[in-house]
Amino acid sequence: MTTELQPESPAEAVQEQTPEQRAEAKRYNNVSLACSLADMAIDLVYLGLMAFVFARPLDRWLASYPALAGEFSLLRLAALFGVVMVLHMFVSLPLSFYSHFVVEHQFGLSNQTIRRWVRNWSLSSVLTLALGVVLNVGLFWIIWHSGQYWWLIAAAAFFVVSIVLGQLAPVVIMPLFYKIEPIKNDELDARMKQLAAGTGLTIEGVYRLGLSADTQKANAMLAGLGRTRRVLMGDTLLEKFTPEEIDVIFAHELGHHVHRHIPKMIATGVVVSLIGFWLIDRAIVWWAGIPTAATAPTATLPLVMFTLTLFSLVLSPLQNALSRVYERQSDRYALVRTNNAAAYRSAFWKLARLNKADTEPHWLEVILLHSHPPIAERLAAADLI
Ligand SMILES: [Zn+2]
Repeated sequence: MTTELQPESPAEAVQEQTPEQRAEAKRYNNVSLACSLADMAIDLVYLGLMAFVFARPLDRWLASYPALAGEFSLLRLAALFGVVMVLHMFVSLPLSFYSHFVVEHQFGLSNQTIRRWVRNWSLSSVLTLALGVVLNVGLFWIIWHSGQYWWLIAAAAFFVVSIVLGQLAPVVIMPLFYKIEPIKNDELDARMKQLAAGTGLTIEGVYRLGLSADTQKANAMLAGLGRTRRVLMGDTLLEKFTPEEIDVIFAHELGHHVHRHIPKMIATGVVVSLIGFWLIDRAIVWWAGIPTAATAPTATLPLVMFTLTLFSLVLSPLQNALSRVYERQSDRYALVRTNNAAAYRSAFWKLARLNKADTEPHWLEVILLHSHPPIAERLAAADLI
């Protein structure tokens, strides 16, 4: 049914995407899709080569340094991880720059200066390297010292690390990349306080997230655990959305809080990690031809990295499906809580226009890559209320 035949339809009042905007969103989506697929292929091929071709020669070369010699050297493990990761960062640098800087500028979505891009890339590379060294060396320490069922211990350690990182993310890690400050707006404060009443989320936990230094795109998120739990509303969103539309987005984030999606994701992560670590155990035994992983040579580290990457890729459709279930739950929560389907519709159309979102991507793309339902589907939820 076309809108021309239904001039009184409520959708008529909502500004949607023009045919030109829709076509541009499709083009942007196709380029982003190609970049994501290429990135995954580069990761797999690079880590595959490291695991099956270069691992032993690299390990022998590192072992020739007296400080890194010895059979179960944690220091050599750290050095091997460093070499593999630094090379990986430079191998993926051109595509990373193209997809996150060039494409975003071509489509008029980026506010980022090249200086800021380089700063953020360097900082995130250093953080990934530092955290990766600790986690991978820690993992091998567990493999070498915990016996046959090391993967149970490793999954328990993974749980602890998830909790710590979940707590630190919004207070330590994210502020390194974004300006985060309390929302200083009495009217917004009052509206949010009213929406959050009875949910256990205090209004002190709502912050303005400085996305505009990087992007034109609007976004919001729920982050943190326990006392660091907070809703982060993009400054781009706060500036461009009406109070009613902000209510809808805020209520969606409240939905994630009320439905306890972050603890549920951590619990799923622990189950997934248990399977992942068991697979690593099998891969090490097979590749090194040893009876148990307890004597895993340091040269198996790239294999461990390859196995985890392949496993998470294979699993990502399931993880994405679960995430889309959570998003639909939060959308429904937002609709019921605000009881304002018109604001819901206009908020999602505004998101589609600002973020140049393809509202109806191919189903295969959704299954493989999307953590959020297509906007057309999210809009349709408003018709059911
Ligand atoms: Zn969400």
